[in-house]
Amino acid sequence: MGQKYKVYDIRCGKCGQYVLTYHKYGAGKGILRLYLHRIAAPESLFDEIKKHQNSIHDVPHLTCPSCEEVLGVAAISKGNKWAYRMRQGYFHRKLKK
Ligand SMILES: [Zn+2]
Repeated sequence: MGQKYKVYDIRCGKCGQYVLTYHKYGAGKGILRLYLHRIAAPESLFDEIKKHQNSIHDVPHLTCPSCEEVLGVAAISKGNKWAYRMRQGYFHRKLKK
């Protein structure tokens, strides 16, 4: 607790559709992966992840809800954290605060 984080909106790079809100910790500027437990919205995405929580291999790719472009691929990162490995150039991020 007490850790500082930044809030980013992630949007589809192709059509501009809002995809999710992310709480980013740490100093790095880029977003290479999104840790699933730090995704703050939307609720529908949590439900989708929860449904597949038995295995990372069952978690669907992160896709744009509008044009269905694949923005990230579910994978286990260092430290055994579940994450979407983001496809660089396929999404936009906007710092909210
Ligand atoms: Zn899109």
